Amino acid sequence: MMKKTLDASKYLSTRGGIKSVDFCDAVMMGLATDGGLLVPAAIPQVDGTTLDSWRSLGYLDLAFEVMRPFVGNALPPATLRQLIRDSYATFDTTDIVPIKPLDGNNLYLAELYHGPTLAFKDVALQFLGNLFAEILRQRGGCLNILGATSGDTGSAAIHGVRGKAGIEIFILYPEGRVSPLQERQMATVPDANVHCIAIKGTFDDGQRVMKQIFNDLPFKQKNHLGAVNSVNWARILAQVVYYFWGAFRVQEQSGSHEAIQVAVPTGNFGDIFAGYVAQRMGAPIARLLLATNENDILSRFFNTGVYAKGAVQPTLSPSMDIQVASNFERYLYYRLGENALQTKGLMKEFEQTGSITLQGADPVFAAGRGDTSATLATIKKHFENHGTLLDPHGAVGVAVAEANPLPGCKTLCLETAHPGKFPAAVGQALGNDTLARHDSLEQLKSLPLRKTLLEPTVPVIETFIIQTLAERS
Ligand SMILES: *Cc1c(COP(=O)(O)O)cnc(C)c1O
Repeated sequence: MMKKTLDASKYLSTRGGIKSVDFCDAVMMGLATDGGLLVPAAIPQVDGTTLDSWRSLGYLDLAFEVMRPFVGNALPPATLRQLIRDSYATFDTTDIVPIKPLDGNNLYLAELYHGPTLAFKDVALQFLGNLFAEILRQRGGCLNILGATSGDTGSAAIHGVRGKAGIEIFILYPEGRVSPLQERQMATVPDANVHCIAIKGTFDDGQRVMKQIFNDLPFKQKNHLGAVNSVNWARILAQVVYYFWGAFRVQEQSGSHEAIQVAVPTGNFGDIFAGYVAQRMGAPIARLLLATNENDILSRFFNTGVYAKGAVQPTLSPSMDIQVASNFERYLYYRLGENALQTKGLMKEFEQTGSITLQGADPVFAAGRGDTSATLATIKKHFENHGTLLDPHGAVGVAVAEANPLPGCKTLCLETAHPGKFPAAVGQALGNDTLARHDSLEQLKSLPLRKTLLEPTVPVIETFIIQTLAERS
């Protein structure tokens, strides 16, 4: 039995400025209207009997059990089940997230890349796309998603909503500055509700224009604009599932009932925050090992207590090239004992000074940094010694896991992308980039690109959105 079931389906802001809302409202709200992030009013506690009954479930049934208390009455149980089924029917394996031994000893690997765009963001964005469509079906209306991407998020978001009734998606990306494969994953999608905008500028130009358009409130409301960024609670929730799944599979495969360590390559703190929720619910997780590349604001925080911004440095693991982690505020809220007033104060201090300091440590977390040379060496070593080809993001996690074993525990390393998405990095590690291939990426090479090249200014992009929506209605 679960306790606190009701509370878990009501959502509050980390800054305390909203009345509680239900799960569907939280999903549609994205960011809380007071500038904070939405969190459940309580995290459900899973007791030992329930936990044991979950061990034998397949991925889809487990997802239903983990998500249900957070959804509450906002969706009928049969609808939630169907959403989960539809979301993972696009994966190329019935295990959804296969868990395998990595080094024949203490390390295991969670393959999170079996979705349509070959990165872990599919686990959440396939679910979010179906959830948006279901909420629109219930409530009527439409949703026009606007996003700016430097690569992975845009394609996962597009694949989450392609072909869905009532939803259009506009993705801005910098022309000539995403990898050719990444562009193909976005601009070859043939569905008429997908609109790729290649801007004549940088990623920052795209992000700036997107923020300006979201701040143009009359435009935003009139055109039903919505976002799919990683602060959406539904994205976190879908990711909580594989922490339970992974811990069960590692215990099963190793024959040990010890709780495990999970090593998580981190950028926006979304994925590892989902692990924290799972740990607090009672998943058999002894420690979360946070791994960053050279952009190490988060690993510095867990090692020193100081959360201080630096300048973003491009690396081989671009999806982790982030300095201000948008989900960190959720962790801060729990670290401060769910005190919204203190959270708001510290976030304000961070916005003003670029730095905050917390006293004490959190035994649930350890952290380390895997730099470029460690990433390359790890890819090479695991390919040569164990025949496993890691992508550069997963390699950061494995490098940090090898440097930070937890005595008596197995470590599950999250592999967040298929190596075929990053042939240049794999080539640099192995001296041969033909090893990093995936059939679905090869097929894209012969498809036509559908994109519009535009100047990154608010009037140009807004006009394009208005004209496109008029043509589509
Ligand atoms: C987004 C991403 C990450 C980082 O995930 P966060 O939730 O932002 O911490 C890691 N690896 C890959 C491949 C990604 O696309």
